[in-house]
Amino acid sequence: MPIADYAMYCRMLERAIENHFAYPAINVSSLTTANAVLKGLAEGRSDGIIQVSTGGAAFASGSSVKDMVLGAISIATHVHRVADRYPIYVALHTDHCQAQLLNSFLIPLVEETERRRRAGLPNLFNSHMFDGSALPLKENLDIAVPLLERCHRSELVLEVEAGVVGGEEDGIKAEGAPAEKLYTTPEDMLEVARSLSAVKGARFLFAATFGNVHGVYKPGHVKLKPAILKDGQDAVEKKYGRDARFYLVFHGGSGSLLEEIHEAIDYGVVKMNIDTDTQYAFTRAVADHMLRHYDGVLKVDGEVGNKKQYDPRVYLGLAEAAMAERVKAAITALRGVGTTLASA
Ligand SMILES: [Zn+2]
Repeated sequence: MPIADYAMYCRMLERAIENHFAYPAINVSSLTTANAVLKGLAEGRSDGIIQVSTGGAAFASGSSVKDMVLGAISIATHVHRVADRYPIYVALHTDHCQAQLLNSFLIPLVEETERRRRAGLPNLFNSHMFDGSALPLKENLDIAVPLLERCHRSELVLEVEAGVVGGEEDGIKAEGAPAEKLYTTPEDMLEVARSLSAVKGARFLFAATFGNVHGVYKPGHVKLKPAILKDGQDAVEKKYGRDARFYLVFHGGSGSLLEEIHEAIDYGVVKMNIDTDTQYAFTRAVADHMLRHYDGVLKVDGEVGNKKQYDPRVYLGLAEAAMAERVKAAITALRGVGTTLASA
């Protein structure tokens, strides 16, 4: 199917709320990883979200170019071109963009969509994340509100975050964050709802934090408290009505228990970000190939190796398939199997 347009993306999000499932939002940084997500979504018959981080986008532009806007456009363009060949809808999203990177990443991509719309072309991305969680809430929202207004004018969904996701993502560490910031309070959620609902008709996603940590840790390290989400949603509904309930995003969910994931979905999570687990699935397949065929991928003791084993297409193909399998496992965990709107 073509990339979901704004109406379809909104329908996807509403359908997830109504039917208590969530979309995997998988980070990609290359054609192969983007193709792996499409393959996994298609085989799991779930719609989904492909997302690019600032670091992933810079990587995609090439190590001597390192232009994150160019890399993001490049990946998005590829997905626009190939999505037609898969029987599911996919939306394109950009991940964490801190305030200091807005003018070098998020805004140029919004401008690119604005240019495309003037030329009668579809949006480049469906949604962008502004991560102002390192700022005091007021400063965070002072940036988020006008940004949401601008995004809404071009039918872009904005994701915002309050509270801090622990751990490290893309080299950005949340170290030293006070422990209470790992849990968004109902007061903060009310303030986010009040501020952003002032932008009439705009659609936004909210990453509230409930102990989430980026990266993966041994069991017991992470204390998830999905009830935080319930408390916040209840407070928002009580004050602003049922329609004000958030469309929530689950960051840093690697290694979470299935019950915790389901509980979070039941409280309104519609998008679960997945990066660490799919990175590992990809690399695991490459490592397996290299270790099994070390005498084919290497020229050992004056031998010539085996072109059939060191051709990057061979191990990247295995990696694509393995990552697609991990995407399918995510779809199952998120109760998304068979939920695609493509056939509806
Ligand atoms: Zn995140």
